[in-house]
Amino acid sequence: MSEPENWANAEDDDNDPDYEPPAEMENGHITSDADDTVTSDEEEFPPIPLEGDFDTDLPTSHRYLGRLDNVRGYTLYDDGQIISIWAIYTSTMVFPGFTLPLVINTYMENSILPQLLEKNNVFVLLCANTTFNGIFNYGVTMEVFETQQRDNLLSIKARGRQRCKLVPGTEIRNLTGRLKHVTVKIIAEPEIMSPLCDTQLIHLKQKRLFTSTLYSDLMKNYKYRRYHLAQYPLASWVYDKYETSYYVKLILESLAHYVGEYIPEDPIKLSYWFVQNYQLSHEERLHILKLNSALERLKLEYKYLKLERSMCCNGCGIQITDPSKVFAMSKDGIQSNYVNPGGHVYETVTVMTAQNFRLDGDPSKQFSWFPGYAWTIMQCKNCHNHLGWQFTSNTLRPRCFYGLAKVGFKIVIQKDSDFELGEYYV
Ligand SMILES: [Zn+2]
Repeated sequence: MSEPENWANAEDDDNDPDYEPPAEMENGHITSDADDTVTSDEEEFPPIPLEGDFDTDLPTSHRYLGRLDNVRGYTLYDDGQIISIWAIYTSTMVFPGFTLPLVINTYMENSILPQLLEKNNVFVLLCANTTFNGIFNYGVTMEVFETQQRDNLLSIKARGRQRCKLVPGTEIRNLTGRLKHVTVKIIAEPEIMSPLCDTQLIHLKQKRLFTSTLYSDLMKNYKYRRYHLAQYPLASWVYDKYETSYYVKLILESLAHYVGEYIPEDPIKLSYWFVQNYQLSHEERLHILKLNSALERLKLEYKYLKLERSMCCNGCGIQITDPSKVFAMSKDGIQSNYVNPGGHVYETVTVMTAQNFRLDGDPSKQFSWFPGYAWTIMQCKNCHNHLGWQFTSNTLRPRCFYGLAKVGFKIVIQKDSDFELGEYYV
């Protein structure tokens, strides 16, 4: 993208006869003159600490959207259930457990969405396929948990719930803009099992548990496990490689250098945390979305982890940073979705250092995704491609970091000549 769809270009918007300024956006909040109930920061949210370590809870609240109304409920569809449901097609994919903020401010989307939400506050998030020429046939159900309609701006926050798949042969109806109507089948999340759990005597199952999500628990019974395995033809390590906890341990060890302590140990949560946060290509992420069990996902993720990779400009390919520089500025993890007043969702990765960029314009605190920080646009020094934003504060720690927009960079994998890439798509 040559120019970011960015609020920094407000003067361009002023020249557009159809542009309606949504509402005043200052200090990370959307406020409106017409709405007297919205007043100061203090009444909207607790005050932002202006010194010391940054509170990583703040970005997950997406407080730049202002105070939103809670929507009650927790919807889980039955495994295998076929549902006819509305959908949103975006450039980003959100995995179960993670949050998607959206601002709807096109007239057509805005006129339809409230009725859709009234009928069902769950929708399906769809994304582009591997070649970006159509819709990928897997998606995630999202439950809207907060909404706010103010002037011409509808803000929603939704959380990923279940994986689902488009039912082949059914129509994908275009409603308007990004909104569609689809028929999907909910995909079951299978229980985590050990390949050995049905080979044990029932009374031993409780004492020497082979099905454990913690590798340390598995190791406590390892002596008995080896005795037990002596009756089978393969070596014991072969069976270890089909234990979910084995991959949890390997992945957690490999991620030990990551700054931030929010990496979950639960296998299902870890499998989604990894694909949401680790620097994977769009194709790699879609491969993981297709896999049905936490074991399959973790196995493939561990293989992806071993590949050397760097983060390069999407325009010219110059290296901007590498995955060892990423860190968590948000409780949601390293990679989170944020939305600008134009309604464009940016999947953003926070990194400590970056190179080969130049800054464009002055720092601004308007609509800042990280309360207390001012942002400045980052461009590639070579090709002027929009890379993301530099965030700075004189009082908060860290003083400076970079939010790289996923659309601005690509993952370049240094392929090991010893194996074929196809080997990684098990
Ligand atoms: Zn470039």
